Amino acid sequence: MPSSPPASSSAATDATVGATASVRRLAGVGPKLAERLSGLGIVAIGDVLLHRPTRYEDRSRITPVLELAPGRPALAVVRVESAEVRMGRRRSLLVTTSDGAGRLWLRFFHFGPAQQARLAPGTWLRVYGEPRGGAYGAEMVHPETEVVADAAAGHDFVPSFTPVYPAVSGVTQNRLRDLVGQALSLLDRSDFWPEGLPADLTGPAVAMSAAEALRHIHNPPPGADLAALADGRDPACRRLAFEELLGHQLALRSRRKQIRSDRAPAMREPGRGLAPLFEGLGFAPTNAQRRVIGEILADMAAAAPMLRLVQGDVGSGKTVVAAAALLTAVDNGWQGAFMAPTELLAEQHHASLSRWLEPLGVPVWLITGKRKKDDEIIAAIGSGQPGVAVGTHALFQNAVEFGRLGLAVIDEQHRFGVDQRLALRNKAGSGRMTAHQLIMTATPIPRTLAMSAYADLDTSVIDELPPGRTPITTVAIPNTRRDEVIARIGDAVAEGRQVYWVCTLIEASHKLEAQAAEAAAESLSEALDGVRVSLVHGRMKAAEKARAMTAFKEGRIDVLVATTVIEVGVDVPNASLMIIENAERLGLAQLHQLRGRVGRGSVASHCVLLYQGPLSDTARARLSALRRTSDGFAIARADLELRGPGEVLGTRQTGAQEFRIADLVRDADLAESALSMADDVLAYHPREAELLIERWTQAGAAYARV
Ligand code: ADP
Ligand code: MG
Repeated sequence: MPSSPPASSSAATDATVGATASVRRLAGVGPKLAERLSGLGIVAIGDVLLHRPTRYEDRSRITPVLELAPGRPALAVVRVESAEVRMGRRRSLLVTTSDGAGRLWLRFFHFGPAQQARLAPGTWLRVYGEPRGGAYGAEMVHPETEVVADAAAGHDFVPSFTPVYPAVSGVTQNRLRDLVGQALSLLDRSDFWPEGLPADLTGPAVAMSAAEALRHIHNPPPGADLAALADGRDPACRRLAFEELLGHQLALRSRRKQIRSDRAPAMREPGRGLAPLFEGLGFAPTNAQRRVIGEILADMAAAAPMLRLVQGDVGSGKTVVAAAALLTAVDNGWQGAFMAPTELLAEQHHASLSRWLEPLGVPVWLITGKRKKDDEIIAAIGSGQPGVAVGTHALFQNAVEFGRLGLAVIDEQHRFGVDQRLALRNKAGSGRMTAHQLIMTATPIPRTLAMSAYADLDTSVIDELPPGRTPITTVAIPNTRRDEVIARIGDAVAEGRQVYWVCTLIEASHKLEAQAAEAAAESLSEALDGVRVSLVHGRMKAAEKARAMTAFKEGRIDVLVATTVIEVGVDVPNASLMIIENAERLGLAQLHQLRGRVGRGSVASHCVLLYQGPLSDTARARLSALRRTSDGFAIARADLELRGPGEVLGTRQTGAQEFRIADLVRDADLAESALSMADDVLAYHPREAELLIERWTQAGAAYARV
């Protein structure tokens, strides 16, 4: 028995096969190919249709040889004049051809006797390839060739634009074209791809049906604008992009609606109030912090779960805001969870929260998933004892059962995806009550982007930095002047200041990064006599990292050599100089985050972006944006322009879904209309809403379940 279903039971003849059926239902797809296709995001038959070509080959007309333009692939009909093997630097077969008016040379580096025989003088060929200026004139290297009877037969063909798809090894273009062809023929069945947009929507984005748009994209008709199709500006692409943006928006909103319909603990007890917390801080909260705390407490006083995103630039003091919310939860007899993206940060938050809350009698627990003490803590958490648990993903472990979770705080949201938020909610919702959710991010997000990514959240902004911060002076210096930079470290240390030296690598390999950091630490201690250098990197044990960080915090270390593990949140106010090695390799948001580690005290701070030239244009643009401004919002906008939304939102790190067709920058206008229509669609067209959510969001099923 063959492992794939025989053709007779294939999708083509089975009326029950819908767009969500496995690609294995298509003819010729066995387990191996299915596995490879999944690498392209193709799992269901519908995914095949949403696999958009990156470009098209124009086989719609024959181009006279004299009109061939270098770099523009074209179809030509020519007659072979001669074919000879050239020895040159590489052995090649050079075929001289002509269409009567102009000469075209075809060059093959891989050829056998059969190929040579096929290209005998006098043979007529239809060729397709990319012309370039060769040694003699127009030349095509390895064109596709097809032998035809004569010139007239060469001109007799079915005009087409051949789509070229994103592919992976083991999946050829021809295979993809075949699968798309099969899927397109299923589209003829009206129930295969039911229309998802309600009929009463208007506007250019809905001028054609989804099925028409899909056909247009995979099989453009004569006269189609290939460039617009390739870069997504074509009306067919926009039609689908709009539908996708709407589907995504619907998913977020329906999820919000469902969560908001749950019951949450109404935390109305003023308890002792926040005064004791504020008194112990040693500083007065800024007006922005007070306002945001007010917004949060108002949400928490309600019997519906809070879903709030707090945006605040690096150093704006989000931890205090979280502490106020957590204290309120505990004073109302509930437990709080505080989730950080890295262990280092979890430890740091645990330290701050213990310092602030334990004097008030609030237990603050650290869960790392590794320590022996965890068992005791897990028992306390399970018993429902009011207190605050701090940790990384370890907080999600099944072993950790909160007896009375009332508030979940997620720090540095951009590191977590929607799915992780869901997991926390599932955890929180194990009882009859759903916990309030507070999400904090240091990555300011431009509005449309925020609305599109976090439509399920209310937003608060801490738009003020604590007083007394001095601006950070940022300079970019080429690596050739490294010695000068090292000398500067010596001066800073002599003045009693502390320094970060950050090592970066392109590859996310902790091992290589750790090696680079070790080497840097060694060379710095050699170069700087009497300067105390220490190291933190991702390969060190948690306890070792904590020791190094504590020593640095307490001023027993002058220079901390670190990998990007210190990127988010680490707080040592006396550190006023940061050197970022190979700064050209990092993205803007990451550089901004890193730089935010300095400028936290009252001395003037400096950031040196040490780069390895020559710089690419984008790298240059990034470094100069960073030199120009330290305003997180301005940097976020620049970042969005330079990198695109997927990266800005950190979806790459989180594995969260990216848009398949839509692009939030290119399709910003469509995103706006999707935002404005979503509530109506949800209210008046629930059937379509459900269809769109399922079609466009991988998490569709998960959304539906919550
Ligand atoms: P982030 O928003 O980046 O998480 P943190 O919460 O780590 O910022 O706060 C940065 C530093 O500023 C910490 O040392 C914190 O104690 C301090 N801080 C927070 N709020 C204030 C304030 N209102 N006045 C002075 N310092 C503050
Ligand atoms: Mg923080």
